[in-house]
Parts: sequence; structure tokens; C-alpha cells
Amino acid sequence: MIAFTRSIIARRTGPKMETAFEGKRNKRGDWAPPEPLRYAPILEWPPRPLALLKWVFGYPGFFLPWGIFYMVVPALIWLYFTPSLESMKTFDIGWVSYITIRNLVLILLWAGSWHAWLFIKKAQGTDWKHTNRWLARDNPIFLFRNQTLDNLFWTICAAVPVWSAYEVLTMWLFANGYIPFVSITEHPIYFVVLMCLVPLIRDVHYYTVHRISHWGPVYRWVHYLHHNNVNVGPFSGLAMHPLEQLWYWSGAVIHWIIPSHPIHVLFHLQHAALTPAPSHSGFERVVLIEGVGVKTGDFFHFLHHKYFECNYGGDGILPLDRWFGTFHDGTEGARTRMDERFLARAAQKAAAEGDRT
Ligand SMILES: [Zn+2]
Ligand SMILES: [Zn+2]
Repeated sequence: MIAFTRSIIARRTGPKMETAFEGKRNKRGDWAPPEPLRYAPILEWPPRPLALLKWVFGYPGFFLPWGIFYMVVPALIWLYFTPSLESMKTFDIGWVSYITIRNLVLILLWAGSWHAWLFIKKAQGTDWKHTNRWLARDNPIFLFRNQTLDNLFWTICAAVPVWSAYEVLTMWLFANGYIPFVSITEHPIYFVVLMCLVPLIRDVHYYTVHRISHWGPVYRWVHYLHHNNVNVGPFSGLAMHPLEQLWYWSGAVIHWIIPSHPIHVLFHLQHAALTPAPSHSGFERVVLIEGVGVKTGDFFHFLHHKYFECNYGGDGILPLDRWFGTFHDGTEGARTRMDERFLARAAQKAAAEGDRT
């Protein structure tokens, strides 16, 4: 049983920014929020339409602050940093390497900013940090015995090439008219609706492939690499085995079937590329200036890295873990239920092995 040693509403003074944080740390230095985790009020029974509206348009909610940010980035990248469809009709080293380098720069700038602010500058110390431990050094489990270098290696050498390959292939298909293209001016409402559906599609896809990744052999040979990061940092999010990258980015293939605009594809892929940095930042909230913080999440995913067998979902909009009985809300009750699931499964396995002998 976790014994919480102190309940913190701390105010830290010193050379760094002054910030306040809430919650509890246990003896091991792990933080828990004051309230249990809760899903967004969608697909609830009885429905709560006002709460739903507040979540969609309020702050924090579906659009604010992060939802709209993740939609604007791909729109700008389509307008200013993507070759014309005309030029992508045939594979050519020029535009293919342009897209790959552009993606590399994007992820280094994005995850690098989180890393620099929280882990190099240590701008807010351990305030709002999920654990009070920092990233591993001199640990042989990681390449170069260094967690940050290991995470950077897999991000640059595995994630960026596979992400870019999906993008290049899809743009080539669009350019040649092999997949259905939707014009924004002719179908503006459809365009907006599909933009809003992309995070939900990603939820379903990620939950599915992530659960498969936890199946015995796949976990032992592939997904273990991501879980070497028990304590996570911004570059841990895309630090995955090259094979896992193949299915992690594969959700974008849905746009080969559903009529889409290239911005939908860029949004889909960049959502998969950018959201893991904050969700693996290791901090619940990033404090930008004194007293002003933005919720980053992701205590939900921190619990997945801590306990492995819970919270398989990604962005956490659709209550998939709740539906499939794998939700951990950070409370002792959820931990007990998870332990019971482990024991039941172990007993089932032992019984099956007993039958065979
Ligand atoms: Zn993770
Ligand atoms: Zn996992």
C-alpha cells in the first residue's frame, strides 16, 4: 500500500521560477493528483449535454489549448512547408528528402523545446513532475548508457524515417489520384468534421495496436524497448522499435479509404508525432511564467509506464480503457482492481499449464 508522506501545496522559492503545485508524493517520490483521473464527458449515460459543450468549447477542452494547436500546425505546414502535389507525382530524392528533413526539424524543435525547458533548464524543478527522479545516465539498459541519447537515437533513426515514409507514400497517392481527394472549398463542413474526428480515430487505432503490443512475444521482442523508459522524458514518446513504428504510424492509411485532404493526413501523422512529447514530458503541468501553467497531461500515460497493464489509450478522449476494464484513475481502488486482474490472469495461466502436464 502506498503511504503518502505529505500532501503538497508547495511554494518554492529560490533562483528558479516560483510555482505552486498540488497533489501528493509518496515515499518513492511519485506524485498523484488530488482528484482521480476522469474521462471527457462524452458517450456517457445519462448524457450531460452542458458538460459536453463546456468540454468541447471550454478551457481546457477538446479545442483549447492543445486541440486547435495540433490542427493549425499541419495547416501551416501544408501551406508553407510541403511541396506541391504536382511535384510529388513521381518519387524524387529532392522532395522525399525535403519532407524527411522537415519532419526531423519539426520533432527536434518540438520535443527539444520541452526537453530544454524542463530537463536542461529545469525551469520548474520537480514541481508538477510525476516522479522526483531525472532521466537515467550510466544505465546499460539504454543505448550509449544514456536515456536521452537512446531516446534521440530511436526518434531520429526509427520514428522520423517511418513517419516520413507514410507521408511520402500518401502524398504520392494523392498526387496521382489513386486515393480519394476532398477539396476544402467544395466540402468545407466535411473537411472540418473529419479534422475533428482524426483524434478519435487515432484513439481507437492506438488503443488497438498498443494492446497488441502488450501481447507476450510482441512485447518481449518489440514493445519492451519503449517500456525501458519507466521514468519518461519528451523524447521517450517516439522511442520505439523500428517494427513498432510500422504499426504506430499506420493509422494514416485510413485516409487511403476515407475521402480526405492532405491536411487531414498531415494532421493525423503530426498528431502522432507531436502529442507524445508532452504526454511523456514527465510533468503534469508546464509553468510558462510565474503562476501561469498549461496542463500537459499525462498522468494517465505515466501510470501505463509505471504499471504496464493499464491505460493503453492514447489521447484519452474516448473512454476505451474504461470500456475494456483497463482504466487506472490513479487511486488505490484502481490499483487493487489492477492487482486482482493480474492475479486472476496468473491463476488462469497456471491452471492452463497444469492441464497440459
Ligand atoms: Zn509511452
Ligand atoms: Zn505499452
